[in-house]
Amino acid sequence: FTTVYEAFARHAAADPDRVLFHLPGSGTRSYGWTLETAQRIAARLVDDGVVPGDRVAAQVGKSPEAIALYLATLQVGGVFLPLNTAYTGTEIDYFLTDAEPRVFVCAVETAGDHAHRAGEALAIETLGEAGEGTLLGADRRHEDVHPAGADDLASILYTSGTTGRSKGAMLTHANLASNCAALIEEWRYTEADRLIHALPIFHIHGLFVAANMTLVAGASMDFLPKFDADAILEKMADATVLMGVPTFYTRLLRSERLTPAACAGMRLFVSGSAPLLASDHEAFEARTGHAILERYGMTETGMNASNPYEGARKPGTVGRPLGGVEVRIADRETGGALPDGEVGLLEVRGPNVFAGYWRMPEKTASEFRSDGYFVTGDMARIDDDGYVCIVGRDKDLVISGGFNVYPKEIEELLDARDEVLESAVIGVPHPDFGETVVAVVVPAAGREVDGDALLAAIAPDLARFKQPRAVRVVDALPRNVMGKVQKAALRADYGDLFS
Ligand code: ATP
Ligand code: MG
Repeated sequence: FTTVYEAFARHAAADPDRVLFHLPGSGTRSYGWTLETAQRIAARLVDDGVVPGDRVAAQVGKSPEAIALYLATLQVGGVFLPLNTAYTGTEIDYFLTDAEPRVFVCAVETAGDHAHRAGEALAIETLGEAGEGTLLGADRRHEDVHPAGADDLASILYTSGTTGRSKGAMLTHANLASNCAALIEEWRYTEADRLIHALPIFHIHGLFVAANMTLVAGASMDFLPKFDADAILEKMADATVLMGVPTFYTRLLRSERLTPAACAGMRLFVSGSAPLLASDHEAFEARTGHAILERYGMTETGMNASNPYEGARKPGTVGRPLGGVEVRIADRETGGALPDGEVGLLEVRGPNVFAGYWRMPEKTASEFRSDGYFVTGDMARIDDDGYVCIVGRDKDLVISGGFNVYPKEIEELLDARDEVLESAVIGVPHPDFGETVVAVVVPAAGREVDGDALLAAIAPDLARFKQPRAVRVVDALPRNVMGKVQKAALRADYGDLFS
């Protein structure tokens, strides 16, 4: 057992000049620089009273120093708690009250807003995107490394809050290390790789998939502040891998610069965090010759399944379970195991599965089966080749007149129409059926959507109870920063269509 920190520190010691960060422009930061910066931050954390097990919360912009803060927290045995930079006032109150961190690191500009929170129990530090602020104020380096145990907490990572209030997922060093090792092997990730990193680092995708893999493999990354199609296309000349959310690919496809030549040096494009449109998968392959590798995971489990590096990457599937991960499909009502091909609740078990929700023992107990399987809350089926197909969230399932309606089945029919760019199908309250189906669609560029004609076109492929009773045409679906469609917001918008 080796922690993420140990693997990183080994590269830093063996080859301090090796580049870890390629910054916009031509700057770089080496492994040695990152280790020393982490040690300076560690000195500050220790001065602030951080002892092993203490939480260190951070709501900071994306910078090499922010990654050094993560590493420093691990070094001293702390528990890293990154927060979405969009959260404000009362949201921050919730996280700080819930997690009780010893230190809260905020952006330099927001220091004034948080000053009142500082006290005996909580130290406030600042870190700006150019590395300025109080956090790097120590004039010494703290070199001791706390020997973390496999089951010690490394992080409390809050879920995205797509279906309700964010929950703090307790992740151990073994959770992070095992998942990272499985991904490195599955995706053939090595020190020769150079990753285009344009994801936020407060979420599992950017931090525990992209950054951890790079730190552990001894690879390097182009650290971009956010998604920008031109910047990414430029970086492709030197990089080997891109990890993105589906909207990255939707937007890259809109650029004329996306050509086989532009991707010539790239060996892998990964998508996750939300479903990739099968049509985008196909269009990307036709344009570039690269089949996007789609994988599936969640905050609570890290990555569970991945399409193969060698072998068929099937559009609309998230591939097979990663090494060490077991999956099964359970009946929604009874919890009993279902045979392959049938749709039910996806459950997972393995070294990747978290230690429970922070200070929510009942919630934790209710999401685990007695034999250790975690109930993901996603509905899925397993196809003939053992590939997992996510059909949507349990909470997005529509139950109309007692019949289950899986939104994805209808979304796929809508998305296949030329006049439709994308769609979201939701259930809204209905006096007769309990719930009924509503389709929210975004027209394709330069096209118009006639709701009645659209419904007539898909009707032959759908049982009557699955047919949408209303179509709403919108310019764009509401999405969060991870590209997740906010169906709860749509349900709120259209909730009174039939009442
Ligand atoms: P919350 O749990 O707070 O409601 P969330 O589930 O969106 O928010 P995350 O842990 O960031 O929080 O996201 C995990 C979820 O993202 C999965 O449960 C699944 O629904 C979705 N997801 C991730 N990857 C994929 C994928 N490749 N295809 C379909 N869905 C995906
Ligand atoms: Mg979730």
